[in-house]
Formats: sequence, structure tokens, C-alpha cells
Amino acid sequence: MPNCENVLLIKYGEIHLKGLNRPYFQRQLMQVVNTALKGLDAQVVKAQSRLYVNGLREEQLQEAIARLRRVFGVHSICPALAAGVSFAAIEEAAARLMKESLAGGGKTSFKVFARRADKSFPMRSDDINRKLGETLLNRFPGLWVDVHNPQKKLRVEVRERAYVYLDEYPGAGGMPVGCNGRAVVLLSGGIDSPVAGYMIAKRGVSLAAVHFYAYPYTSERARDKVVELAKLLSRYTGEIRLHLVPFTEIQMAIYEKCPKNETTVIMRRLMMRIARYVAEEEMALALVTGESIGQVASQTMQSLAVTNDAVTLPIYRPLIGFDKDEIIGLAKKIGTFETSILPYEDCCTIFVPQHPVTKPRVEKIRESEALVDFTKMIETALAQREIV
Ligand code: ATP
Ligand code: MG
Repeated sequence: MPNCENVLLIKYGEIHLKGLNRPYFQRQLMQVVNTALKGLDAQVVKAQSRLYVNGLREEQLQEAIARLRRVFGVHSICPALAAGVSFAAIEEAAARLMKESLAGGGKTSFKVFARRADKSFPMRSDDINRKLGETLLNRFPGLWVDVHNPQKKLRVEVRERAYVYLDEYPGAGGMPVGCNGRAVVLLSGGIDSPVAGYMIAKRGVSLAAVHFYAYPYTSERARDKVVELAKLLSRYTGEIRLHLVPFTEIQMAIYEKCPKNETTVIMRRLMMRIARYVAEEEMALALVTGESIGQVASQTMQSLAVTNDAVTLPIYRPLIGFDKDEIIGLAKKIGTFETSILPYEDCCTIFVPQHPVTKPRVEKIRESEALVDFTKMIETALAQREIV
């Protein structure tokens, strides 16, 4: 049909609320949307409180929608037909959509919701609703109008063009990555930390990641698994630089020189100390972990406090109040679960003490940690890291 084009209409949520910052958020959203659609024939344009994606070929639409559903800051995505600004064109577009949607004779209720951003359009919104409703009723015998609880909502927005659409896919919500600074997520290879990264990124924070490995106690495949997790996460967050830090020397030193029941909490403090340097390099303002209160001995209130004592940088723990099954639910939703449960050893699990302290005191742990001078080892670990 002439003058009728497939367009994706992107609605964005929260960034409406940001007053003077709004243009900044819009620019950021524009940028992340463009990045997400790379490689497709898409032109993204900004209009009043919407983005439009033009130029997509029919066979690219589903892929584009799938990608956009992972972009933070997107409230919803509507595949629309963009028609000329005339009632006849709107009618044609609406009929075509309805025909595809009924796919040869379905029965369903519907309602038309028209909006006029262009007030010079000669019909008022109510007139469009009524007249378009009539047209569709006449053309499709399976339809009836339900104004209170319609199964199908046909929306019409009259702007510089007339946009007509039926479907609306929910987006990932949140805010565009990059508009709220940067953080370093400690990525373990387990279920929790990718979810923690996801939640922080959802608030508009861009991510770098650090992973500690204990070769030869942990395998090459454990490393690949973490790389894969970072990749899965980057579908939402955009590029993630992953710092792979060798941790064996430090772990051995802790294991040999520090009290056995304190090794886990001391190890966690050293992870923070190293991650702090990575954060400085990455110009990140916080560390992020997947800890939640009481999940294991190293995640009691006391242990978390002792861990915090190792650095002045804030440590964010977005899963702090979540139960394991809630975290698993999220991991499945974002698609990291299957990779997280692959059975490769993590460096945390190889030297686990029999009876770890559950209520460590910070003064005591500082003393034990001071039994070893870790400065050189930290430098070496940082120097020998690999960045992917
Ligand atoms: P996860 O499911 O994320 O592994 P967990 O419940 O197994 O978490 P821990 O193993 O105690 O808990 O780890 C707590 C947090 O510490 C992790 O969520 C992660 O942020 C960080 N962490 C643990 N091990 C590593 C590691 N090898 N490299 C980087 N970060 C780690
Ligand atoms: Mg773990």
C-alpha cells in the first residue's frame, strides 16, 4: 500500500519526570537505542516524547523488537503503520492491521483510542474514534465494540504522520545506561552477581566487571563461563569491559597465614581492595555484588560490615533483601540462569573453611589480615590481569 510504512514507535517512561535533565536523558536513550539496532536498516528519529524507528525491512521487525525490549529506558514498543495525515489513510492502515490481526476470521471486541497532537487535523479525537469504529465494524463481521474492557485496543496518533497500531510490547523499563554514572560489578560465575549487575544497570549505570580466578584450581571453562555471562549481560548494558584477575597467590597466602575460620571474609576484603583499583581506572563510583543478607556465612550482617570496612568506595548490593528463588526468577527472565548453573568451580568454593566465622569482628579481622603484606601481591595480580 502506498504511503504506509512499518515503523516502531518507542515510548519511554521515567525520563518524562526529569525536568531540565530531560534532553540529556533523551539523547542518552537515543544513543542506546541506536547501539541496540546496529546492523539493521534502522533510522531512529526523535519526536515529542517518542522515538520512531524508520527504515526497517519487514523481516527485521521481530529482531528489532526483541533487541529493543532489552534496552533500559524503553517503556514499550509498538509496531505501527505510519500513514498520511488524512482520515482515508488512517482507515486503510487500521483495516490492514485489523485484517492481519484477525488472520482470516477471528471474533474479538475492540475499541479505538485516537489522539491528536496535530490540532489542525479537521476531526476531533472522538470523531475519529466513532467513525473509524464504524468502518471497522462494517468491514469485519467478527468485531464488536467494548468500551470498558476491549480485547484489542486500536490506537491512532495524529502527528506529522498518522501512526496506527494494535500491539504494545513492554520494554525493560528503568533508565538509559550511561545516564547515571558507572560501577564495577564483581562477577563470580554464580547466579546472583549477573542479576545484581542487571539491576544496577537498569538504573542507568554503565558497567565494568571484575572476576577473580584461581588457576589451576579453577578451570579454563570457568573463565569462559564468566566471559559468556558478561556477554549475556551486555545485551542489556552495552559493552562491558571484563577484568580477569589471577587470585591464586593471594588465596594461598590467606590460606597459609591467616586463621582458618576467617579465610572467607579476608578473601572477600581482598577482592574489594583489588576491585577498588579497577574502579579507579574505570572511573567508576561504586562496587556491586550479588550478596543478600544471611545467604551464606560470608553474608551475615557482621560479615558484610567487615567486608565494607576494606574500602571506602560504596558497595551496592541490589539483591540484599531477596530470597534465592526470587533471584533465580530474575536470572531466568534475563537469560543468565542456564549459564550460571554450569558446574565449574569458583575460586570461593575451593578453600572453604569447615567452620567459617559468622560474626566476625572488624578489629580481629584487620589484625589477621595484617599478618600478611598483600601490597605487592595486589600489584602483581593487577599487572597480570587480562581484559576482555
Ligand atoms: P553468586 O551467585 O553471584 O556467585 P553467591 O551467592 O555464590 O553469589 P558468594 O560466592 O559468597 O555468593 O559471592 C558473593 C558475591 O561476591 C558475588 O555475588 C560476587 O559479586 C562476588 N564474588 C564472589 N566470587 C567472586 C569471584 N570469583 N570473582 C568476582 N566476584 C566474586
Ligand atoms: Mg558464588
